[in-house]
Amino acid sequence: MHDISKMRAALLRWYDEQGRSLPWRVRPEDRAKGIIADPYAVWLSEVMSQQTTLVHAAPYWEKFLAAFPSVTDLANAERELVLSMWAGLGYYARARNLHKCAGVVRDDHGGVFPVDEKTLLGLPGIGPYTAATIAAICADEATNIVDGNVERVISRIFAYEVPLPKGRKGLRELAGTLVREDRPGDYGQALMDLGAGLCSRTSPQCGLCPWSQWCKAHACGEETLYPKKDKKKKTPIRRGYAYVLMCGNKILAEQRPDAGLLGGMLGVPTSPWGERPKDHSAAPLQRNWEKAGEIKHVFTHFELDLEVFMAQVEEMKEGIWVEDISGLPTVFRKVVECAHKKTGPAGPV
Ligand code: SF4
Repeated sequence: MHDISKMRAALLRWYDEQGRSLPWRVRPEDRAKGIIADPYAVWLSEVMSQQTTLVHAAPYWEKFLAAFPSVTDLANAERELVLSMWAGLGYYARARNLHKCAGVVRDDHGGVFPVDEKTLLGLPGIGPYTAATIAAICADEATNIVDGNVERVISRIFAYEVPLPKGRKGLRELAGTLVREDRPGDYGQALMDLGAGLCSRTSPQCGLCPWSQWCKAHACGEETLYPKKDKKKKTPIRRGYAYVLMCGNKILAEQRPDAGLLGGMLGVPTSPWGERPKDHSAAPLQRNWEKAGEIKHVFTHFELDLEVFMAQVEEMKEGIWVEDISGLPTVFRKVVECAHKKTGPAGPV
């Protein structure tokens, strides 16, 4: 039996004492003084930290806020600059949507970031989780915040048997039964902290958990059986060739089409990714390609296996030539590093 008021009180008490301090977070003691979180900063943090760790996302958040202190600054920035600053965070559709969303906030909301869930849901790239989070944290709206970590906690508390992804809707409804008007922002953040910390995927620390007495999975000693998941399909492998054309310290890059994977980002020329092509017709016009090695990269839905070829030219004809590869997505940085390993960064000698 779940006593919701007691559960909430226990979680909030734990959060007051042990919740994480994050650069974009306003702690309860400061909230009590009337300080409210900046929705622009919270939005950036949420978009950046999806699918990656906070430790990895935090430097990007700082870099973005320093370069674009307001949402209007972000909207006014060149999209290419935003995409190159995003490089390394993956999921590049997010960066494109980030820039698009900033433009809508500038043009349709006078540069003031909305904080109510309904309006937020109408913005590009903002889904139910991000809208609920911003509304709860920045406006104390009693929303239902459910991310992967919260799903894990709720599935364990209720020993929820329907496997994911089918069970997602039911888990959301169960999480909704715990939502109340009392300190919604702190409650949401407390729940996220619990999921990200104590209630970890493989080794939950139930002895320290404020909800252990209500947790059905813990009562049965079956914590790690939840959330139940459908059997994973084998990750498909795609193969292709990548071409690193060097001129001194520079390499030939090309902008990828907007639609599709890594859309709008700079990369090196490649063959299509699928079956390994029978020839090198996708290579830039250049003979004497030399094999540098192979790299692997894992995307959400497939693994990519690229054979890397390299060549050098004396002069840079047309095209985009880059020296600093930090603005390239990780997969292309791996490709270029593979070529550099063979030749040294200054090109073949
Ligand atoms: S008791 Fe254990 S399994 Fe249950 S919510 Fe707490 S940490 Fe997770």
